[in-house]
Amino acid sequence: MLPRSIQNLIDEFAKLPSVGPRQAARFVFYLLNQPKEDMEKFAKKIFILKKVKTCSFCNRVVESDHDRLILCPICKNKDRDWAKICIVEKDTDIENLEKTKRYDGLYYVIGTEDENRQLVRLKELISRIKKSKKDLNEIIIATDATTEGETITLYAARCLDELKKIYPQLKITRLGRGLSTGSELEYMDEDTLTNALLGRK
Ligand SMILES: [Zn+2]
Repeated sequence: MLPRSIQNLIDEFAKLPSVGPRQAARFVFYLLNQPKEDMEKFAKKIFILKKVKTCSFCNRVVESDHDRLILCPICKNKDRDWAKICIVEKDTDIENLEKTKRYDGLYYVIGTEDENRQLVRLKELISRIKKSKKDLNEIIIATDATTEGETITLYAARCLDELKKIYPQLKITRLGRGLSTGSELEYMDEDTLTNALLGRK
């Protein structure tokens, strides 16, 4: 039997995605062999994660000491085009799309949890758009070209249709299918993503 303190940490690591109990044990024993200061630094980095909040418009993660209205650097940036919103599943998809430098609108993170949660987020987006009282010309659905991604796209298209009553000029587009089926935005290189962005319809 391992000491409780070690077993407790193994159990925590084992909860992480794609980490099994054996790998979790390896992590913990690795940490045990590190200098005490390094272990403290590691613990602090986890502790400080509690400062991470989500942007009040796009749901992207952002660091903040308070819980009031928080906007991420993209939503705060006056040079971004508010009339365009790109729906993505994950924060990391934003990082990748930003790298292409071919998009100057806003984003909206819909999450990768269950479909109900995504539906709630879509409804939140609609109410945030209405509240913003800004022009809206295009919503790009940039979900992964996977079965789940396709399901969200259908959902989103149906949900967002009601916005066309308020914004008759609104176009709802999706990334061009330069993205081959099964591909996830996260693993796409810049050229493929740029083509997908330019080829949206
Ligand atoms: Zn934001």
